[in-house]
Amino acid sequence: MSDKIRTRFAPSPTGFMHVGNLRTALYEYLIAKSLGGTFVLRIEDTDQERKVEGAVDIIYHTLKQAKLIHDEGPDIGGEYGPYVQSERKEMYMPYAKQLIENDKAYYCFCTKERLDSLRENSDDLGAGYDRHCRGLSKEEIQQQLDSGTPYVIRQKMPLEGTTTFEDAVFGTISVDNSELQDQILIKADGYPTYNFANVIDDHTMDITHVVRGSEYLSSTPKYNLLYESFGWEIPTYIHLPLIMGKNDDGSISKLSKRHGATSFEDLVSKGYLPEAIINYIALLGWAPKDNREIFTIEELIENFSIDGISKSPAVFDYDKLEWFNAEYIKAMTVEQFAETAMPYFKKAVTTKELDWIKVASILQQRTTVLSQIPEKIEFFETQPEYEKDLFVNKKSKTTLENSAPMLSAAINALDALPEWTHDSIHDCLIDLAKSLEVKNGTVMWPVRIAASGMTVTPGGAVEILDILGKEESMLRLKKGLDKLTENS
Ligand code: GLU
Repeated sequence: MSDKIRTRFAPSPTGFMHVGNLRTALYEYLIAKSLGGTFVLRIEDTDQERKVEGAVDIIYHTLKQAKLIHDEGPDIGGEYGPYVQSERKEMYMPYAKQLIENDKAYYCFCTKERLDSLRENSDDLGAGYDRHCRGLSKEEIQQQLDSGTPYVIRQKMPLEGTTTFEDAVFGTISVDNSELQDQILIKADGYPTYNFANVIDDHTMDITHVVRGSEYLSSTPKYNLLYESFGWEIPTYIHLPLIMGKNDDGSISKLSKRHGATSFEDLVSKGYLPEAIINYIALLGWAPKDNREIFTIEELIENFSIDGISKSPAVFDYDKLEWFNAEYIKAMTVEQFAETAMPYFKKAVTTKELDWIKVASILQQRTTVLSQIPEKIEFFETQPEYEKDLFVNKKSKTTLENSAPMLSAAINALDALPEWTHDSIHDCLIDLAKSLEVKNGTVMWPVRIAASGMTVTPGGAVEILDILGKEESMLRLKKGLDKLTENS
């Protein structure tokens, strides 16, 4: 075994990247990079029935977006390839045969019907396989093999004693061997099970640290018995705490769709930034030595340590994620924000070319999730129908009566402007308020309502007029004035 730290992310190609899987990938990456090691990507596709078209591409794409760059993997190769389990298929059988020779595994010829009826007739759901084929004689086995009876290969668990191992997070774990099932190692289709393949692959790929969800904790003794049978060194185990979601009644349960988006792709399409998601996920189960919260990926590498991982379940808090997202948005330059938000701008504004930097600057500080953007700026594309009551505002001291003369005066003053800039519009409206001896708001409110048709807008009257341009602004203001004066 090499001395170098080697970790692996070993997803099954299911078609989406659950945040739990992404956290595993992140921690594997951080452990490798913080210790000067190698981060390997391995695709675990031994369950051929669960294969999903395009799923491997989603894995590559997610890792790239999340900036978790692997050093070895199916797409880039490496010394330990192939990195896809189905391409390693031929490697597993010789190891299984070695176990059979050493009396640590056995052929099982039980039919599906027999196993089904075993399950149906058992009161104990966890009872599992009854070890029927464990005692077959050499002759019986040979006879079955010669006649081509389909078989699986099962691990022969010790019936007595205990198996104990150390987990870097959960501490010492001990199980009675009598509780361990004679699990299948090689399936009838010749493919290894995950339970077998992960051990063979982790060993033959020189993996030093195995990071995975705590749902694998109970299977780990079985893996360790395999390592022992082969005389191989057991890797360092780092099982991660469960990720829970908050239920409406305040209780928590395993994070699932009913709590909200649970995959990286869904979160990104809802308008969360990959960097913010990664930063938040880093803290789901790991705590830095100080209370710091914002970390770039490089800073995570610098600060990460295995002893900061907690075994208590972590609760995925969408509000907290939104807070992180808002912080990342605020920290961007306006140009970066405009570029990131462009797909959302274009969703709402399809026929106009606006000054997107100006649009970005009125939105940036008040956007927490990018998907909020289209509804906030739709009014630039098409002004919504609105009631004239919107002109009434107590704080700005506007009424249905005074809004019309204010708007009319604003139209005249703005129309006379030789140039249409933020500052010229601003000064024009402020001067107007002064000369009419009213509050600035008494002019600004009717102008903003007429320009947008909404009481809540990103940016004020000046910004909106500036972005709309003179022609469109004048049209909208006149329409607003008509609304106020018709029937009156
Ligand atoms: N293929 C397994 C999964 O996607 C990986 C478990 C492991 O990391 O060993 O859950």
